[in-house]
This record gives sequence, structure tokens and C-alpha cells, in this order.
Amino acid sequence: MPQAPRRPLLAGNWKMNPLSAAEAVELARGVIPAARQHASVLDVALFPPFPWLRPVWDALHDTDVELGAQDCFWERAGAFTGEVSAAMLAGWCGWVIVGHSERRALGETDADVARKAAAALEAGLSVIVCVGEHEAQFVAGQTAQVVGDQVSAALQPLPASSIDRLVMAYEPIWAIGTGRNADPSLAGGTMRLVRQRLEQAFGAPAASVRVLYGGSVNAANVASYVELAGCDGCLVGGASLRPEEFSKMISMVAAVASPAR
Ligand code: PEP
Repeated sequence: MPQAPRRPLLAGNWKMNPLSAAEAVELARGVIPAARQHASVLDVALFPPFPWLRPVWDALHDTDVELGAQDCFWERAGAFTGEVSAAMLAGWCGWVIVGHSERRALGETDADVARKAAAALEAGLSVIVCVGEHEAQFVAGQTAQVVGDQVSAALQPLPASSIDRLVMAYEPIWAIGTGRNADPSLAGGTMRLVRQRLEQAFGAPAASVRVLYGGSVNAANVASYVELAGCDGCLVGGASLRPEEFSKMISMVAAVASPAR
């Protein structure tokens, strides 16, 4: 049976920004009109820091912009000071990011990422699992090995029954926040590898999983990624803090999206 086409996703990771709830609400509101205009062809989600989830939830309620958190913990509740469980987020968010390289840099392992992804799906959230290689690994030609291993580790505990809520994001670490976005054709090759791993793990249902690119994506280069047949959208950091630019990116992704994808 032919699979439904994958809707592109433009996801905005605000990282540890902005500093106030009022600014967070203003950022979120700035994206609503473009998301509404193109809601028939793409999904838009914003990922504020934990304290701003509630005010941003208020701002986005009943709009076409979805809300997510930047991390979660795998246990549901208990003596885990400082952690926030996927089950707790499920009351506020539809989404969560796990395995971002900025969290892996603080000690998060492939096994942690896998447990977080499984907990997120179990809690009913949609989850973006980030993978990507360090610059030295890229230069040494180890990208396929590193990314392949990260993908396989993350997928290992995931039930095939909920992978329609799974999104993979290929984010070369050397491209994040550096202004040095990856060459689209190289990134496209690695995204194809991610899809092969998905197909090996899940077979035909893997066709529902979206694969994104992330790393210094902005209005000037977003089209070069989403035009790739194997790219289902982008995970955007810095440019998502500029609502005018992010709105322009929404329009550009919508322009590229076609029913044939
Ligand atoms: C990110 O935070 O995931 C990211 C890709 O950041 P930037 O777009 O700023 O490189």
C-alpha cells in the first residue's frame, strides 16, 4: 500500500533563550501568522526552555504552532532532583527533543538517549532524536560509522507501533551554531544512511519517520536542504530566535513542499 507523504517539519530550538517569559511569548506570537498561512503543507514546532513552557503554551494554544521541550528524563517520577519526566511534559507539550549534541556534550550517552526516546514515545509525545558527528570524526571520514551507531542505539528500544511519532535529526556538531552549515549533498547522503537504518530496524513503517537536517540553517540555505528528496525539514537553533526570519523559512519550506514528496 502506498505510504502517505511525509509532511515537512520546521522545528525551532531556542536553547537557553530568551531570558524572560515576556520575550518568549513575543517570539512565539511572531511565528503564528506564517504557521497559520501554511498549516496545510507543513508542521511548525517551537522548543522553549522548561520555565517558559507554560506562558508559551498559553500563547500557542489553539494555533498551528506546536510546543515541545528540549529534553526529558526516562523515569516517570521519583527521587531525581532537577529532572523533568516525559510523563510530566505530556500535559503541556506534544514534542520533546532528545540527544541534542549540547546535552551529549554534558555526558549524555547513547543508552541515555535511547531510554529518553522510549520514555517520550511511551508518554505519548512525538520525539526528535538528534545524531551527529564531531568535526574530527567528519574530517577522518567517520561520519557514517558514528551516525549509524548513534541511530542504531537510539532505535533499539523503540516499539514499531509508535514510530509514526519519531523524527530523526541529523545535526553535524561542527555545523551547530557555527555558521558553517553542512554541504547539502553531503548531509543528504548521511540522511539517506539514517533512513536505511530506520528501514533495517522497522521495515515498511519506517517510511512514516521524518528525517531532518540541523546545523546553521537560515533563510538563505533552508531551501537547499528541504529540496533534497530525503530531507523532511530542519531543526533550527539561532534563526528560530528571529521570528521574522523563521517565518520566512516557514514560507520557503512550504513553497518547496509538494504532495509528491
Ligand atoms: C540546534 O540547536 O539544534 C541548531 C541546529 O542550532 P543552529 O541552527 O544555531 O546551528
